[in-house]
Amino acid sequence: MLKVTKFGGSSMADAGQYRKVRDILLADPERRVVVVSAAGKRCSGDHKITDLLYLCHAHAQYGVDCDPVFERITSRYLEIRDALGLALDLETEFTAIKKRLDNNAISQDELVSRGEYFSAKLMAKFLDFKFIDAVEWVKFKMDGSVDQEASYKALRSFSTGKGIVTPGFYGLMPDGHIRTFSRGGSDITGALAAAALDADVYENWTDVSGILMADPRIVENPQPIPEVTYDELRELSYSGAQVLHEGTIFPVREKNIPLNIRNTNAPEDPGTMIREAFSTDADPNRFITGITGKKDFTIISMSKRGMGNEVGVLRKMLSVLERHNISIDYAPNGIDNVSVVMPTASVAPKLYTILGEIQQEVKPDSLEVHDKIAVVAAVGRRMAFRPGISGKVFAALGDAGINIRMINQGPDELNIIFGVDNRDFAEAIRVLYNSFVK
Ligand code: ASP
Repeated sequence: MLKVTKFGGSSMADAGQYRKVRDILLADPERRVVVVSAAGKRCSGDHKITDLLYLCHAHAQYGVDCDPVFERITSRYLEIRDALGLALDLETEFTAIKKRLDNNAISQDELVSRGEYFSAKLMAKFLDFKFIDAVEWVKFKMDGSVDQEASYKALRSFSTGKGIVTPGFYGLMPDGHIRTFSRGGSDITGALAAAALDADVYENWTDVSGILMADPRIVENPQPIPEVTYDELRELSYSGAQVLHEGTIFPVREKNIPLNIRNTNAPEDPGTMIREAFSTDADPNRFITGITGKKDFTIISMSKRGMGNEVGVLRKMLSVLERHNISIDYAPNGIDNVSVVMPTASVAPKLYTILGEIQQEVKPDSLEVHDKIAVVAAVGRRMAFRPGISGKVFAALGDAGINIRMINQGPDELNIIFGVDNRDFAEAIRVLYNSFVK
């Protein structure tokens, strides 16, 4: 058995967190591959090393003195090293980087990648694992996509049986330059390592006990989701939940490797397990997996008598939106009317032009705009083909006096989506949570 582990920034924030990581690894000898982020925030007012590195590069680029920021970065790592009593010369590397920074001779990507690099160096020393630099195995193609085959082959060649630590977030371009992923990209490195080594599980260690059933800023102490499928995860993140982006985990999904989100600060919690499908359910009576949503949508509603029998009306309306590069989230319709729902931010700057063009090209009987709409999604694979779930959803909302402005459900029945006024958003989520979870 092999478990590939990835520890995020909060798990790497200080020496105390390093000790927790070591305990987690010692507790299970199958955890032999470790991917780390740069040091994150230690408390709410603190700064992530990655943010400071971006700031440092911007200072240097515009000729502003970056010494104070650089000093904050280096001292974070030196503090960790000294608190853990590690004999590691970091000063020589810091001096060399600073010299290149002062001469504007280091790229932004390379400088920023040093956050994960030094985390991995320290962690490898602390664990007495082998340090493998990401440039040795994460290989990009010239177009910026990952060369999976070459990367997997390279990592496999390093696999020695001894534990390894490798930095997340960056790799090497064919021309020898360092390139970083987009923000949060250490998750991708972890997934690539798990896929390369055909791991039995990819453990993604963070500071929450898994993906929560609802936003904790809205619902007090929401329960974590024990099991979620990749399709549900996609629905949850599309509809607003702050979870791992589907795009970051494609390597493990491709290889059908389960992904387990865990909490470094509560390692006894099982966290959330993500898989393609589950043969048995942890809790078969739980029909809703998660509840999420977003505010600030606009609905354009159009009606035209006889539209139900006329060809091309919807296409004409949609082509106006397409011309203005507006992506539509939902399009609920009736016989002689149709509505399109999209984020207000995308449509507001061109709204009147768009309405004018729809008026001219479709000649509807009425055209209306509703804004300040929130979209709420109840997501759950177990509600498919099960009568009564949407009845329960809408009854609960009705009992709470919440008016529903729009309803949408895809034929896969993975979710029930509805629109409410922005001001009812939080209450709608709480009502659903309380009626399905408690
Ligand atoms: N340190 C990088 C960031 O803050 C990458 C990561 O942590 O995943 O975005």
